[in-house]
Amino acid sequence: MPDPGGGVSGDWLLGDELAPSIADDVLGPLYEGAARDRLVLPFCPACRLPLELEQRVCDGCGTAGADWRPVALRGHVHTVTVVHRLEPGLVRATRPYPVADIELADGHRLVLTSAEPTSDPPAIGDPVSIRFRRLGEVAVPAYHSAVPPSGEQEESR
Ligand SMILES: [Zn+2]
Repeated sequence: MPDPGGGVSGDWLLGDELAPSIADDVLGPLYEGAARDRLVLPFCPACRLPLELEQRVCDGCGTAGADWRPVALRGHVHTVTVVHRLEPGLVRATRPYPVADIELADGHRLVLTSAEPTSDPPAIGDPVSIRFRRLGEVAVPAYHSAVPPSGEQEESR
């Protein structure tokens, strides 16, 4: 299969065998959206408070349930960690890699790896956009620094 990225085939960070199982997963709407390059996250069906991914009772009004809706593909870095745990055979990265806690524009928080290979952590407060990594057949959200290095092409969507 040709690789449109022109680089190593597949995800830069993880082996395809680490793709999450999405059949009957409680996060099904997230994965279904990600497959179409949309970030779909849960909100309280009553008061619209953003919910944690697996939260099903609202902290604000006590309503049970989740209303999954697309959110804006942007946010900023709340915290960042550089992971020094390397696992040859599972983790493809050969250097430490950043994992960022992203506060999204619509209020959710997601812990994400970067969409592109990097060892450089973003700064706290940096604006980011959300892109999608592909693990086998499964798309997962990842952050992309909104202030790209010079020369990088931005896609419009
Ligand atoms: Zn609520």
